[in-house]
Amino acid sequence: MQVANRLVQTVPAEHLVARLGGDEFVVLCEDTTLVRAQVIANHLVTAFAAPFLLDGRPYRLTTSVGVAPADAAQPEDLMRSADSAMYAAKRRGGNQAVIFDSGLHEAAMQRLELEQDLYRALERGEFELHYQPLARVASGEFLAFEALLRWQHPVRGMVSPVSFIPLAEETGLIIPIGDWVLREALRQTRAWRERHRRPITVSVNVSTQQVARAEFTETVLSALAETGLPLAALMLEVTESILADGSAVARLRDVQAAGVRVAIDDFGTGYSSLAYLQAMPVDELKVDRLFIDRLGDDARQTSIMSAIVQLAHTLDLLIVAEGVEREAQWHELEALGCDNAQGYWISRPLPADGAEALLLRGGVWGHPPVAEMQPWQVDQREGKFLRGAGSTAEA
Ligand code: C2E
Ligand code: CA
Ligand code: CA
Repeated sequence: MQVANRLVQTVPAEHLVARLGGDEFVVLCEDTTLVRAQVIANHLVTAFAAPFLLDGRPYRLTTSVGVAPADAAQPEDLMRSADSAMYAAKRRGGNQAVIFDSGLHEAAMQRLELEQDLYRALERGEFELHYQPLARVASGEFLAFEALLRWQHPVRGMVSPVSFIPLAEETGLIIPIGDWVLREALRQTRAWRERHRRPITVSVNVSTQQVARAEFTETVLSALAETGLPLAALMLEVTESILADGSAVARLRDVQAAGVRVAIDDFGTGYSSLAYLQAMPVDELKVDRLFIDRLGDDARQTSIMSAIVQLAHTLDLLIVAEGVEREAQWHELEALGCDNAQGYWISRPLPADGAEALLLRGGVWGHPPVAEMQPWQVDQREGKFLRGAGSTAEA
């Protein structure tokens, strides 16, 4: 209501202000020029600079405005153009006004098309998972894989998750897609465990929207129960931004308390506040490759990584280095006592059969001690995986 009041106060009285729904408003300026409309739009953006008071406390909001000219005859076209301009304003960081142009229209049409294709992708079976191994730095062994989603689009070919995950999040499609990813990753892991007798674990990326839902705990636990995998076989990867969502953190705490493991992905690129580590349900930190790229060459970066490894170990967290692309980085990680490493130097993400071939190979080439690679045996009574004589590996 306060926002509506502020809009009405800012827009000259001869124009119409209306609420479309949710947090979307429309301002209709009749008998005006595009330049004057732009001036009004800019006024609106600056009008939001002053905080709103709720119970005497100040809250700041920003606004994104799309401006479109009515030269298209149909009101629907006008609304759609304004909408694409508004989305462009959001994508450019928000808190600004953007004027519609035909390039925006083109981009909006492509998005719309991609969105419709995304709706059908699940039922057409166009998704698959690739798996990238994480190697244990001390031994070179592969015991964990990260599942990475791939979309084989019938026309565009392989579409990167970087371009369709955000779209899936905006449209809510991330929920059914995320369910599919979870089930497929667990099914594959179960099959590998059975065939290779090794305590393989799988990491699955989950978006905050998925975790925030009340059903999340149930979804994860029942998917695990259906495959019969131990809870600790699953690692959920979340980013630091999940902290902004209290209910997501609560769900995460539930699944972690049940025994599922949790990793902070892209560690160091988000809030970068270490204080939250005390409060977060977390087992593992995956350090973003920004902190890994110059390891060994750059003394400052090496000391930062050394401090991160020590901090993680003090807090009893496992630490994974992401984006290891060169052998020198691997050796540096070995020296720093980093637990696990992942990256192109170890292996690119691979289709399931390629990942399975890696399992058979056992470990990173030329990096013994890939401890006497004897086959894993399952102790039926304990349901635990044993390797060689007597040594129990975590299952
Ligand atoms: P991420 O979780 O940080 O995944 C790691 C990304 O880094 C992957 O890109 C991987 O191919 C790439 N990568 C691995 N090693 C190296 C390296 O040595 N150098 C470089 N330059 N890159 C490396 P990908 O597969 O394109 O995935 C991108 C992002 O998409 C993922 O980032 C993740 O945030 C998201 N994503 C992927 N699958 C899923 C999913 O099933 N669900 C959700 N919610 N997000 C997913
Ligand atoms: Ca990840
Ligand atoms: Ca990452």
